Amino acid sequence: MRELITLLFVISVFVSCKNQPENGFADKVIKNANVYTLSWSNPSLEGKPASDAPFINNKWQFDAHAIAIKNNLIQFVGTDKEVEKYIGESTIIIDAKKAVIIPGLIESHGHLQELGEKKEAINLENLTKQQIIDLIVKRANNTPKGEWIIASGWDEAVFANDYPNMDALSKQTPNNPIVLIGLRGFGAMGNKLAFEKAGITKKTKATDGGEILKDKKGNFKYILLNSAKNLLLDKVPKKTLAQQTRIMEYGFNELLKLGFTTTHHAGVAESHMEVYEDLLKKNKLSMRVHAFIAARMYNIDLVNKWLEKGPTTDDSSFLQVRNFKAYYDGSLGSRGANFLEDYADKKNHTGVGGKAYGFHEDMIVKALDAGFQLAIHAIGDKANRDVLDLYANYFKANPKSKELRHRIEHVQIVHPDDFSRFNKLNLIASMEPAHAVEDMPWAIDRVGEKRALGAYAWRTLRNNKTTVIFNSDFTGSDPSFFYGMHSAITKKKRAEERQWFPEQAFTKEESLRAYTIWAAYAAKQEKLTGTIEKGKWADLTFIDVDILNASPKEILEGIVLKTMINGKVKYSLK
Ligand SMILES: [Zn+2]
Repeated sequence: MRELITLLFVISVFVSCKNQPENGFADKVIKNANVYTLSWSNPSLEGKPASDAPFINNKWQFDAHAIAIKNNLIQFVGTDKEVEKYIGESTIIIDAKKAVIIPGLIESHGHLQELGEKKEAINLENLTKQQIIDLIVKRANNTPKGEWIIASGWDEAVFANDYPNMDALSKQTPNNPIVLIGLRGFGAMGNKLAFEKAGITKKTKATDGGEILKDKKGNFKYILLNSAKNLLLDKVPKKTLAQQTRIMEYGFNELLKLGFTTTHHAGVAESHMEVYEDLLKKNKLSMRVHAFIAARMYNIDLVNKWLEKGPTTDDSSFLQVRNFKAYYDGSLGSRGANFLEDYADKKNHTGVGGKAYGFHEDMIVKALDAGFQLAIHAIGDKANRDVLDLYANYFKANPKSKELRHRIEHVQIVHPDDFSRFNKLNLIASMEPAHAVEDMPWAIDRVGEKRALGAYAWRTLRNNKTTVIFNSDFTGSDPSFFYGMHSAITKKKRAEERQWFPEQAFTKEESLRAYTIWAAYAAKQEKLTGTIEKGKWADLTFIDVDILNASPKEILEGIVLKTMINGKVKYSLK
């Protein structure tokens, strides 16, 4: 009898073990999905799908339909039938309703705070006095008591003949200090509370040709002209942590809506870092952030702090600080980008780069010495060449640094002799597909047809075995992945027929990789994310379009349905 009981016990243990997958039931299972895992080999340098790609008879096939998630990681990828065994009593099941799932998107060059700043900015251009007052009063009614309200854009030239009396504004905004900055930099308006906070009294005297406007009775009109405006502007406090957090969280929400699970913030100042560190501490950072420290003099305290600390090392943390962002030259539109030869539309002008542009080579070398990855902004062919030289020289004495996969940002115009150097130096080309179609009309004016052949040259870079990653440099361009991908595959602007240098276009697969696995590679995280594979982070983007088979128009109209990070739904359309 005892033997029988033992036998039954053994059988029951055996049966329950057999039912459970080796590492236990899943926390979550996604079923009924159409998955592109991207877990096959890279396409050829011309963009032809690899032989192990699910590309049959010129059509892409989904290579999975279900995903099991356990402890924030992907536990299993396969069919609806295969995933059944991962479903235990407490497993949460998500019916994807045939949504297309791709690896979590990575925005690899952007400026997170700018989305919120743009949203909160108050533009006073072309408004009358009454319209200005109405707008500001409305804003004040929706702003926490005591918070400063800053707006700009009223035109000194328009108001100069008869400067208004802003006492009416003062009376209606007793709870918020207000500063309205003039369009041309000659004037500032305020209200009573702002004047009080700035310590401007009737006895205050304007100096150096400045003027504090008063009515006939000697009462303030709350307008300050020329140097007197600084009496007010110099006293505007820097944003509080709560204000800055509100601005950055707006940015996070926008990116989550667009399907991004990671953002590379290219140029972080102290006020941004405070928010990131605070949110991380409270476990409230809503997506993965790679904070690139801005290598600028105004930011020297933060620079020195991180040079001393060294790069972060725990990949699982939502905040990574492993990169410095430097600026080698200006922009092409403003003719600030640095070229080997004159601008086509301006003789004897080659733009400015390097030291003259405020590039601090000693700071950059210190960052390299401290083990940080560098991301250096370079637009013109001279700037790109100089930055390539800088990396080459540094690697001669420090060959190990090459393994960090340093980056050049924008890589807008490259001399034909320099394309092959990117791969030799193990560099990443970080580029914006939308710029290639948005800038083109005037880019050709600036550089001429011949140099334009080396402009936004993704295909030439890939042909030279360079890893190209795609991003938007938002808010410089629309951060939407669908918009970026449309630019990349068509070389056309939204709703326009003109195609710019179509021979440089990427395929859909290459574009998708440039927003996922190649961007993960650029951050040395290709073993952790970028594809949908067992053991990787459960970072997934659900979309409504068959991204690898869809027409450019369908891609442009694509919508993100869900954004999942570490297995948690961070955004859902409904
Ligand atoms: Zn940027």
